[in-house]
Amino acid sequence: LVRTPNAVAEAERWTAHNYHPLPVVISSADGSWVTDIDGKRYLDCLAGYSALNFGHRHPALIAAAHAQLDRLTLTSRAFVHDQFATFCRELAELCGKDLVLPMNTGAEAVETAVKVARKWGYKVKGVPHDKATIIVAEGNFHGRTTTIVSFSTDPDARDDFGPYTPGFKVVPYGDLEAIAAAIDETTVAVLLEPIQGEQGVIVPPEGYLPGVRALCTSQNVLFVADEIQSGLGRTGTTFACDHEGVVPDMYVLGKALGGGIVPVSAVAANQDVLGVLRPGEHGSTFGGNPLACAVATEVVGLLKTGEFQRRSTELGERLHADLGALVGHGLLAVRGRGLWAGVDIDPALMTGRAACERLAERGVLAKDTHGSTIRLAPPLVVQPAELDWAVEQLAAIL
Ligand code: PLP
Repeated sequence: LVRTPNAVAEAERWTAHNYHPLPVVISSADGSWVTDIDGKRYLDCLAGYSALNFGHRHPALIAAAHAQLDRLTLTSRAFVHDQFATFCRELAELCGKDLVLPMNTGAEAVETAVKVARKWGYKVKGVPHDKATIIVAEGNFHGRTTTIVSFSTDPDARDDFGPYTPGFKVVPYGDLEAIAAAIDETTVAVLLEPIQGEQGVIVPPEGYLPGVRALCTSQNVLFVADEIQSGLGRTGTTFACDHEGVVPDMYVLGKALGGGIVPVSAVAANQDVLGVLRPGEHGSTFGGNPLACAVATEVVGLLKTGEFQRRSTELGERLHADLGALVGHGLLAVRGRGLWAGVDIDPALMTGRAACERLAERGVLAKDTHGSTIRLAPPLVVQPAELDWAVEQLAAIL
């Protein structure tokens, strides 16, 4: 690698050090593969933290983006544009909800969900003014805004960013009793990731999500599912909640919704919930812009074929079987669902960071999360032989 070290140093020189990227400088990509500035190719097993579920530059998505770039890119929501209704209808139908509110980043969509849940609490449930509480889980990751880090339990994400936004109660993840005990007359929502991605692909115990659903229904509390990372095909179903037949009151979506091309996020809910917003109470200059809507409509179209969910299920079985065989041979545990795995490397062998560096040398891109855990989430277009090859590289570094 000739040009890479200088390019890494130059990037370090000119930016805040809020990331510690692997020393790989990518200049082009296609499908499941990326190429760096030295011409070395890598299988992308991170897929933009699942923003690239359909692979890099999926032809249908690129075509939709090009066509839209040639017609109209931005209007603001001061006007209606001709891509808006189509996108909102298509996504609402995919979610089985009445209404959609588009934003840009995941964190913005979570903020939207928090604001809508609070307003619902005051206007519909009758919670006393400014007293609303939202129950969240330990180990959560919902984004980086001041309010969202206020209820993070990760010191790196939270420390030195106070004062914090009040109104959140943190309970252990996967513990239904803890949620039941935390609910009181001020509770407006339970906000959860159906699988905790950043925490290391933590799948809650069977029955937890249906239990939360039942509890929320009986206590008149909104169940808000942050499916930003788990949703849109990643786990083998459209939403991770689908695995247990659970329908939340509000879906929070992002990442793959933009097809890996533009930032697109959204919340989807029924009229009784999203209907609480009135003109002027919430918004975003770029939210629901024509380019975003054109690409995201095509994303929904891809998901409606079911092909990507099917691929995730089939390839996921293969991935988990292959990774399972490495448990006891350098891996301590493997978790996940569909084409999404959290892999705990024996810390006596190496850190997750060291593992990712060695994988990159062998042409596989993955990213460590906490300690010795790495996450594998290749694009859903990955080929079976490529997947086998990636696991071989992991076995080789162990
Ligand atoms: N929610 C979940 C579950 C996520 O995984 C992420 C990003 O990793 C976010 C929210 C935040 O999304 P964004 O980085 O687009 O703000």
